[in-house]
Amino acid sequence: MLRVRLLVFNAALGVLDYRVPEGVQVEPGSIVIAPLGPRQILGIAWEPERLEAQDVPEAKLRPILEVLPVPPLKAELRRLIEWTADYYCAPLSAVARMALGSMAALRGGGTTTEYRLTGLEPKRLTPQRAAAMDALHGEQASIRELAELASVSEGVLRGMVGAGLLEAVTVDLDKPYPPANPQHNAPTLSEDQRKAADTFVDAVKADEFAPFLLDGVTGSGKTETYFEAVAAAIEGGKQVLVLLPEIALTENFLRRFEERFGVAPIQWHSSLKASERRRAWRAIVKGAADGGAQVVVGARSALFLPYARLGLIIVDEAHEVSFKQDEGVRYNARDVAVIRARYEKAPIILASATPALESMQLAEAGIYTKIELPARFGGAQLPDIQILDLRKDVPDKGRWIAKPLVAQMQARLERGEQSLLFLNRRGYAPLTLCRNCGHRFQCSHCTAWLVEHRFSQRLACHHCGHEEPVPDACPECSAKDCLVACGPGVERIADEVAEIFPEARVALITSDTMNSPEAIAEFVAKAENKAIDVIVGTQLVTKGYHFPDLTLVGVIDADLGLEGGDLRAAERTYQQVAQVAGRAGRGEKPGEVLIQTRHPEAPVIAALAAGDRDAFYDAETEARRDAGAPPFGRWAAIIVSSEDMAEARDAARAIGGTAPDLPDMLVLGPAPAPLSLLRGRHRFRLLINARRSAQLQKIVRAWLGPLNFPKGVRVHVDVDPYSFV
Ligand code: ADP
Ligand code: ZN
Repeated sequence: MLRVRLLVFNAALGVLDYRVPEGVQVEPGSIVIAPLGPRQILGIAWEPERLEAQDVPEAKLRPILEVLPVPPLKAELRRLIEWTADYYCAPLSAVARMALGSMAALRGGGTTTEYRLTGLEPKRLTPQRAAAMDALHGEQASIRELAELASVSEGVLRGMVGAGLLEAVTVDLDKPYPPANPQHNAPTLSEDQRKAADTFVDAVKADEFAPFLLDGVTGSGKTETYFEAVAAAIEGGKQVLVLLPEIALTENFLRRFEERFGVAPIQWHSSLKASERRRAWRAIVKGAADGGAQVVVGARSALFLPYARLGLIIVDEAHEVSFKQDEGVRYNARDVAVIRARYEKAPIILASATPALESMQLAEAGIYTKIELPARFGGAQLPDIQILDLRKDVPDKGRWIAKPLVAQMQARLERGEQSLLFLNRRGYAPLTLCRNCGHRFQCSHCTAWLVEHRFSQRLACHHCGHEEPVPDACPECSAKDCLVACGPGVERIADEVAEIFPEARVALITSDTMNSPEAIAEFVAKAENKAIDVIVGTQLVTKGYHFPDLTLVGVIDADLGLEGGDLRAAERTYQQVAQVAGRAGRGEKPGEVLIQTRHPEAPVIAALAAGDRDAFYDAETEARRDAGAPPFGRWAAIIVSSEDMAEARDAARAIGGTAPDLPDMLVLGPAPAPLSLLRGRHRFRLLINARRSAQLQKIVRAWLGPLNFPKGVRVHVDVDPYSFV
């Protein structure tokens, strides 16, 4: 008789042994269905020697029910899953889950039914049907997805099918994707670009692990250059994974990819429809041949998919903090991508104009090969950066844009050029208070102010998503018309621009307004056709865009990111300002950048003004070395939370009380976390600062493993944390 050890998708159960029935083939990585009590569970067959399980006598083993008709997860991926769980102190099953698409994809291909509008337009419609007709224009999805899109019940939509307003469409889940053509529209590269591209192409052909840091100034053509490596992988029949920090950037990428290779790549991110997910997952498992996936572009969740043969990984904007996941498995997709490349024996390119200090250090140590593109393509100059000292140039009361910046904007308007104002704060105002009694509007579930959004006329919590209407009267003192908005968000800046330049065409770009691919495409088209004079935006506008007539960038508040004492505050400020500055002067006309600040003397601001990147990296390196911060030392956070404050505090104290006393590890806390209430849970935090020599994960596991907590308590470990709230 044959036993099989299964990693099952239930963190409490973890690993279980089963019997393999006669005639059934199971190998490590096989995805199977097994019985558990009266239920059925999903599991992945694993090498028994690598996973501990309770010893169950043969006679008691129950047989597995079914081996699903998909290829087994490869050993390379299983090792990656183990590595990730181990490094980030996460349950193996939680990591493994990220490799699987949907249950439906595992069940097989075939066809599924979706619905779309027929185009029939009856004269009279119920309000609900009319709303659905509006919302579903151009959409095609399952009834359930359409109902969600249109905010109507499934019943309403079924009624519309009956009335001939919606029609069924059969979707082939195994329909091949049209192949990309590596020769479709190859650019003529500059000499620097050519050299870089040749290095990448050789690495792709070598089929060996080779990590590269592609360090190129904004506009140097990093994308064009790594596209040559993509072309080589396609020619070699290998798959390519391109990771982008956010979905909002994919639209731009898709377009450029299609221009270069003739077809769009396959996308993978959280807003795919169920059928798109199924089709993409099945193509990824199948490999590059016969209409399978050649190139997949996605957010971090694309990293753990079971690629049949990965031949190249690209992490674009590799310095971005959004590669770090802050819930569930708290992993950094940039770092895990490098590990994946190592297991897959493939090259990986980390592309950035402002690499993370950690990546710079690895390049310096010779672990990554650094490839530099020091100049903008086509002779465009990097913009001139000026400091605008807000202590001297004080904006008028209730205004946030200082006069010299207004004057520059005026000049751009007169010349028919574009300006971009950057402020990394959504909404109208970050704080609302009552003029009468001083009441401040705070989230009832979080330690956070509610942010006013004039667009939606609501007060919103940016931590938990809670929203409430802006009240007419103060809930505390009942005074009417007494609410004051404090401080600016992008909406307020856009209003200010409209007041100063009533004739200017202003575009407001935040995740609130850019919430669909269509909205992004519309914005890009307008900006390119010069139907926009002034762009006001959050960090969404700092990356990827190339508008040749944009010649002025104004940073509204460069000090914003420096508040709060975050470990990486200076680095983040540097990266954001350098990135947004990189949007200026990308065409023939030179660009100019004005940075509004109250701290011109801060080293990061001074380095930006001097255009002295090395000075910034040197200063930051020293500061990190002194603090024992990454890459010189390591941090980990232990967050303890519960709906009951005393319970959370006691659990945190119990952890603090058993903290190991080691020479190479310092434990700080417990203390209330800066965000001491989040989504109704009280939070306490311990911070660990360790030398690189410390066996951090092993120690943490040995420390926390034996502790038991009440049911309502959650304890999570964040290794190499990015968020310190
Ligand atoms: P980066 O990603 O480094 O900021 P991009 O790859 O976006 O730079 O390139 C900047 C602009 O220059 C893009 O519009 C791109 O199409 C163009 N470009 C770069 N290299 C070439 C080239 N070799 N031939 C033609 N256009 C190029
Ligand atoms: Zn909240």
